[in-house]
Amino acid sequence: MRNITDNLELLYSASEIRKRIKTLGALISKKYDKKDPIFIGVLNGSFIFMADLLRSISIECEMDFIKVRSYSGQKSSGTIQLLKDISADVKDRDIILVEDIIDTGLTIKFLRNRLFGSSPKSIAIATLLFKPSVAEIDFDIDYIGFEIPQEYVVGYGLDYEQKLRHLDGLYCIK
Ligand code: 5GP
Repeated sequence: MRNITDNLELLYSASEIRKRIKTLGALISKKYDKKDPIFIGVLNGSFIFMADLLRSISIECEMDFIKVRSYSGQKSSGTIQLLKDISADVKDRDIILVEDIIDTGLTIKFLRNRLFGSSPKSIAIATLLFKPSVAEIDFDIDYIGFEIPQEYVVGYGLDYEQKLRHLDGLYCIK
């Protein structure tokens, strides 16, 4: 029987990801200097991206996590369930929402609307991956790691049935 890891094709190596995140970190640090932004990572998929992005930030900042469920297997379920809310008070704060991947855009839309309900000063979005051919959104995505075609991607925090998150590169399933 073939293992799922035999069917993986490298999309971005660990060093390519590191380099890109350094650039994003520098851009964010420049824009948010003296603003004390709060990064909100979307669990589970963003945990590695969040950790590396935060370590590329050279200004004072805070962080929190929010957890939602929108996928079962390789398909979006179409409904978003909030599993864990943020603990921080984000009123009048500059938020940077950190996603692993924007596919249909449903999750980011849901989270953005929800966070706007807490009266922040601003909300920007940073995503490691973006599928422009699929996403239906009517707002800007401020920081994008890589634009990718419509493929199912795993590794670097992204799962296949909760597995493969530990891989240090990004792969698509052949
Ligand atoms: P959206 O709501 O934009 O369709 O999907 C957002 C969420 O779906 C992501 O945070 C991620 O958890 C999951 N997702 C979407 N596309 C992929 C993919 O290619 N690979 C993996 N592992 N998860 C995905």
